[in-house]
Formats: sequence, structure tokens, C-alpha cells
Amino acid sequence: MNNCDQFRELLEAYALGALDPEERAALEAHLATGCHDCARSVEEARWLVCQLAYTAPEATPSDMLKGRLMQTVRAEAQSHAEAKPQALPAKRYVPVWMWGLAAAMIVFMIVVTRNVRHLQDETREAEHLNAELMEGNHKLEKELAETKREAMIMMDPKSVKIMMPANGKQGAQLEAKWNAQLGVLVMGDKIPMPAPHHVLQLWLIPKDPKAKPMPSMMTWPDADGKFILLVSNPPDSMGNTKALAITEEPEGGSPGPTTTPIYVGGVS
Ligand SMILES: [Zn+2]
Repeated sequence: MNNCDQFRELLEAYALGALDPEERAALEAHLATGCHDCARSVEEARWLVCQLAYTAPEATPSDMLKGRLMQTVRAEAQSHAEAKPQALPAKRYVPVWMWGLAAAMIVFMIVVTRNVRHLQDETREAEHLNAELMEGNHKLEKELAETKREAMIMMDPKSVKIMMPANGKQGAQLEAKWNAQLGVLVMGDKIPMPAPHHVLQLWLIPKDPKAKPMPSMMTWPDADGKFILLVSNPPDSMGNTKALAITEEPEGGSPGPTTTPIYVGGVS
């Protein structure tokens, strides 16, 4: 008995990987018998599927086009059913070209899904880059604004110069300039590095003998022992401040001085 006719209709679906497990097993058993005709037909069907993969559209078809395609498919299937009412199960009468259309749809879906995923990745990348640029830009702007303010405090004749002699540190030079509008600038030269995990912290010593020293900013000298500390918003006014002092404090700073000030300068 020649089985080939019953498999003829299944070959396209087989090439697409769209067969039921039973149909698939039956066809593979038939191919295993070495039927040359069916083997060649499967090769042809695979070639067709490959071609569809290469010609798959890169863009989204309009809903109207998709609707029209589906209408055509339904009409075609119906005309076949009417033409052969004595037919075997309807699945066997799905025309070959419809399997091609199904293949095209599947390939199209894969291409679109991949493109969308690609686009999402690229968008994420762009957002990340943009955030980094903004951050860099913001940092640069802040540094520029600080440098400008430092220069203005240095040059403004209204700034008050405060010498902060070192307490037993030979060669260390420290002075501050206080500008009522722009803030306090503290500059150090040949300043020894604090102990590991320690910082230099600035304090404002109030005139009021009952008030405690007010904590301000922290810094480290660079390799040459230099530092510039800008306090844009000092915690108190020059008029209320008796002196500026710097102590060595554990990393992170302290709410009150824990060591004897190394540098002290009388303000007013
Ligand atoms: Zn065969």
C-alpha cells in the first residue's frame, strides 16, 4: 500500500514544526522507511520556510492588511470545504500556501519581538548614558560655581582675613577668609595628613561662653599638604563667632571636638 498520499498534506506543517506528536511520529516512521518522494517533499517544504524567514517583513503591517489576509484565508478554507463536502478531517484540506502564510506570520512575530527587545535594550543604554552625562555635567557645574565663589571670597576687599597659626606644627600654614555674603574659605599649606581613618574638621567657637563649638565641614590635605575648604553657609555669623578651630576627628566627623584644636584663629 502506498502511504504517501496521506502524508502529502502534512509535509508543510512538519517543516514548520507544527504537527501533532502522533502525526509527527507517523510521518517520521514513514520517512524512516526511506521513501524518496516524501523525503524530497520535506526538503522542498523546509526550503520554502527558509525563504519565508529571509523575506520576513521588518516593519509592522497595518491592521487593515492583517484583517484582509485573515479574510482571504477564511474564504479560501471555506471554498475548499464546500468543494469537497465528503472530505476527510478539515485539517487535511488546509491549502499548502496557508501553511506558508502561517510560517510567514510566525517568522514575522519572531522578527518583531527581537527588534522590540533590541530597541528596549538600546533605549535603556541611552537613558543610562544620559543620566551619567547629566551627573557629570551637574558635578562640573557645582565645581565651577564653588571655584568662582572661592575666587570671589579671595578677591573681595570686604572679606576678613583670619590667621590660624598651627599649634606646634612646624611649617604648616593656615588662614581663612570670611565674607559675610559668600561664606568662609579656609586654605592650608604644608598641613600634615591626619591619622588613618581621621579627618580635619572645622569648628566655629561662639562668643557666648555657654555655647558649644559648632561643627562645620571636614577635609583632607592633598599629597602636598594643601587644602581649600569652602563653607558656603556657615552655621553662625562672624559677629557671633569668637574663633575658628580645626581638630582631628574620626572619619565622618564628630558633633563636638574630641581632641585639642591643632589650628585656631581669632575672628572678632
Ligand atoms: Zn512517501
